[in-house]
Amino acid sequence: MDFSLSDDQKLIRDTVRQFMEAEVRPTVRERDRKETFAEAELRKLGEMGCCGMLVPEEWGGAGVDTISYLLMLEEVARVDAAMAVALGVTNSVVCMPLWKHGTEAQKKKYLRRLASGEWLGAFCLTEPQAGSDAAAIATRAERQGDTYILNGTKSWVSSGGKAGLYLVFAKTDPDAGAKGVSAFLVEPGFAGFRVSRYEDKMGLRTSRSAEIVFENCEVPAENRLGEEGQGLKIALEALDGGRVGIAAQAVGIAQGALEASVKYAKQRRAFGKTISEFQAIQWMIADMQTEIEAARGLMYYAAWMRDQGAGRMGAYASRAKLYASEMVNRVVYKAVQVHGSVGYSRETDVERMYRDARVISIYEGTSEIQRMIIARDLLGHGEAVKGVKVGSRE
Ligand SMILES: Cc1cc2nc3c(=O)[nH]c(=O)nc-3n(C[C@H](O)[C@H](O)[C@H](O)COP(=O)(O)OP(=O)(O)OC[C@H]3O[C@@H](n4cnc5c(N)ncnc54)[C@H](O)[C@@H]3O)c2cc1C
Repeated sequence: MDFSLSDDQKLIRDTVRQFMEAEVRPTVRERDRKETFAEAELRKLGEMGCCGMLVPEEWGGAGVDTISYLLMLEEVARVDAAMAVALGVTNSVVCMPLWKHGTEAQKKKYLRRLASGEWLGAFCLTEPQAGSDAAAIATRAERQGDTYILNGTKSWVSSGGKAGLYLVFAKTDPDAGAKGVSAFLVEPGFAGFRVSRYEDKMGLRTSRSAEIVFENCEVPAENRLGEEGQGLKIALEALDGGRVGIAAQAVGIAQGALEASVKYAKQRRAFGKTISEFQAIQWMIADMQTEIEAARGLMYYAAWMRDQGAGRMGAYASRAKLYASEMVNRVVYKAVQVHGSVGYSRETDVERMYRDARVISIYEGTSEIQRMIIARDLLGHGEAVKGVKVGSRE
């Protein structure tokens, strides 16, 4: 058993860390306050290869292993979780399905642009009435000659309004349930595509979460990804890969919160000592680090499984996502506690981290859905949760 990182993995981690410290940390609080999307910073990370890390080099990607990809996301989220959202979506749930299911022409047209960071990608599955239950989406795609006409509304689209390509899921056969969904590559310039509004969120304030309306949106038939009816399979497979990325966001935020807490505890004085000398503070910090390491272990194990050729990570990724997303909420709670009133002020990073962390147990499959996947894997009760959005292996 070898727990060490390779020289290449360390180089990726250190290069991204250096960039985040030098070019992002100085502006992150101000951007959070003003809700400024990190356009220039994301572009630079894209140029460094962070948008298509798992995509082979022949398609403009970095062609690295899953652990390297997670190290990148951890380092980004340690400073700015909202940027990790844009990178996670582009890498995991847009580039990967496009690479896996795209035609040669689709890859030539879109994959290079995404993998090189020229464009960000967006993933459009959720609708106002359909979140966990993805088979309940109502967006329709009707074929008319060489074109599909899309009608419907997608909600909570990360990087909506900023992305260059949208992977959209719509029903081509509404009577076929989960097997009636197809996937489409949609450019924002296509007629009938419209961003209707942005969510006013608790956290991740610099990440855009858009509602997108398709009104007789014209999508060329050559932009269908995979076969008709394969859409939900493509979405679930993409989310299976995306989930370890969400665990990396959680570990990154938690690591940032721990480091801020250690620093503050050594400076702040009370009752004639630094607060780091109180056992109550020491125990909080000890628990924070222990939980972070546990989450990291689950996450790297899931990634390692994938790199060994396991294909889908299934319950491994769900365990990492479930534990890491709940862990980060416990860690940021303690980080604010260690900071006292200062932790409740927008002048500190831990205040932003507290807000940013909350969503991690919700998106890309809630904790409840992860538990269902894990239990099904353990108990073999596949049928009991069939049709649930995340984790179905059919
Ligand atoms: C900041 C943010 C960014 C997002 N980005 C994207 C994106 O880019 N693309 C995209 O498509 N979506 C995105 N989403 C949507 C996200 O994936 C959904 O919010 C998530 O899947 C949960 O769906 P829901 O919010 O509709 O909750 P619901 O499905 O309505 O669930 C509500 C509650 O019921 C529970 N529940 C539901 N079904 C079951 C069940 N069978 N058993 C037990 N409990 C159950 C849930 O766990 C939850 O606690 C984003 C959401 C947020 C908040």
